[in-house]
Amino acid sequence: MEARQFKPYIVVIGLMILTSLALAFTVDVNMVGEAGIRVALPAQIEEWEGREIRYCQNPEHRQMYFVDEVEDPNVCPDCGDELFMMSLDERRILPSDTVILKKMYEQPARNNVTASIVLSGAHRSSIHRPQLCLVGQGQEIVREWTHTVPLEGRDPLRIVVLDMLRRGQTRDGESFEHTFYYAYWFIGRGRETHSHVVRLFWMAADRILFNVAHRWAYVSVSGERDPGTVLYVQEIDEFIQAMYPEMALR
Ligand SMILES: [Zn+2]
Repeated sequence: MEARQFKPYIVVIGLMILTSLALAFTVDVNMVGEAGIRVALPAQIEEWEGREIRYCQNPEHRQMYFVDEVEDPNVCPDCGDELFMMSLDERRILPSDTVILKKMYEQPARNNVTASIVLSGAHRSSIHRPQLCLVGQGQEIVREWTHTVPLEGRDPLRIVVLDMLRRGQTRDGESFEHTFYYAYWFIGRGRETHSHVVRLFWMAADRILFNVAHRWAYVSVSGERDPGTVLYVQEIDEFIQAMYPEMALR
């Protein structure tokens, strides 16, 4: 069969998919409040000490603080505005009922790792592709790739790793380049995927077949990346291997 004979079928299948998606996202479904993971970041993960992060959303200020270094975790020590769990940029992009947890994990012998859980709210499709938040303002994705993290007692976890680069200028006008990584995967009730498209498929399937919408979370870890080495990949593995069991529902 020649390729063009397939064309009408492809168009019909495409229309069916579009119709299903349109139905899936417009018909009312039962929102299920439970997430597929424990929505909490532990104070400690093995040797890593977690420090909770808060943001001042004052557009003039936009500072990040550790809860353990401010007197009142809800008040900006510098401008007196309220402190929030998400930054101003995140608040602008994410629906208001999104929940974000963020901690920086420190260990003397290692690079710091910032871990976050973003949990979708009751409104539909409130999780977006993390890539949207990460580009702009001198920041770019140098490479996007899939990585598998070996986990004990189960299949390896597939994650997306973004090799990031941020170019900026110091106050003295000197330019600098900051290289880091941002790795993530998605978790729904009984579902886990590194793929944004697969997540959308599961969301549509759950709505169409079971008339439910689960709350999805995306989990991310990020930290320094030495561009000349693959040491950071080892660090990602070690941290996720320690963190993963802590997030399982019990
Ligand atoms: Zn402030």
